[in-house]
Amino acid sequence: MSALDRSRALLAAALAVGAVLSASVPTMAEEGYPDRPIALVVPFAAGGPTDTIARIIAPSMAKALGQTIRIENISGGGGTTGITEASRAKPDGYTIMVGHMGTHGAAPALFRTLKYDPARTFDPIGVAAGTPVLVVARKDFPASDLKGFIETLQTKGATYSQAHAGVGSVSHSTGMLFDAMVNAKPTFVVYRGTGPAMNDLVSGQVDFMTDQIVNVVPHLKAGTIRAYAIATPERSPALPDVPTTREAGLPGFEVSAWNAVFAPKNLPKDVRAKLVGALDAALDDPTVRERLLKLGGKIPTGSERGPAALQKLVESEVARWTPALSAAVDNQ
Ligand code: ASP
Repeated sequence: MSALDRSRALLAAALAVGAVLSASVPTMAEEGYPDRPIALVVPFAAGGPTDTIARIIAPSMAKALGQTIRIENISGGGGTTGITEASRAKPDGYTIMVGHMGTHGAAPALFRTLKYDPARTFDPIGVAAGTPVLVVARKDFPASDLKGFIETLQTKGATYSQAHAGVGSVSHSTGMLFDAMVNAKPTFVVYRGTGPAMNDLVSGQVDFMTDQIVNVVPHLKAGTIRAYAIATPERSPALPDVPTTREAGLPGFEVSAWNAVFAPKNLPKDVRAKLVGALDAALDDPTVRERLLKLGGKIPTGSERGPAALQKLVESEVARWTPALSAAVDNQ
């Protein structure tokens, strides 16, 4: 073989190796998931329950995945704007989202043109926390208990303002249910999340709202708001002094919300398994558990975790909220 032939043969061999290497690049990248930061979409403003839960679980999930998780707040439309946007992202595991009882339970009952189907458009990853709902008011609201509060609302009606995080949100849907049940017609004030709504409740700009416990505990402990009742059959260990709605005289009003992680549909199997495992690891992480429990969050047990449990929950929530809310809408 001439020197030229030899160098040609070497070049051909080198190119063949190169081709093999470059052909294997995509496979390696997939195997290496996640090899770049993941966006966790929060469909509400910072500071509220969804944002708080996302920020509690994200560092632990990131540790399990060996990659950064960036929180992206995309608020509006009672949470449906951010969820719609995230649902359209590539299903590669680099965009995931935190939805809740509103975006994936109540919203279909309230939007004629919802751009996603809570039970079909997503790959469910798992429930992050159960979040009981409380009836809370500004600190100086002129009623000392739930009965007095309801009477005041019934007599003064629209003079009082009720905060919520947009149509279909937890605060909106549970708030509408509460109003229908007690026959009150307050004036709604809409926010991009109950974080900012809570700020206005603390400063006395709005009168009351129904919201998830993780947003209530710090303010109630600081004495900057008042809580009339928790809408669950049992009191919360995080707020042992707050009576249940049953104890306070409104037994029919029992609603428990939840937050959960979803991904756009059709994730590669291994990517999905990694995300499910990371959420599971976060829920077993003592730091995460302590922070969630301190805020009154309920940590899902083994059988309440994972994609199948979340899929079942979403389906039953949509079925539950659709009739409940059509009755409440009639009260508006
Ligand atoms: N708790 C809110 C709601 O009412 C949303 C939020 O997390 O800010 O749906």
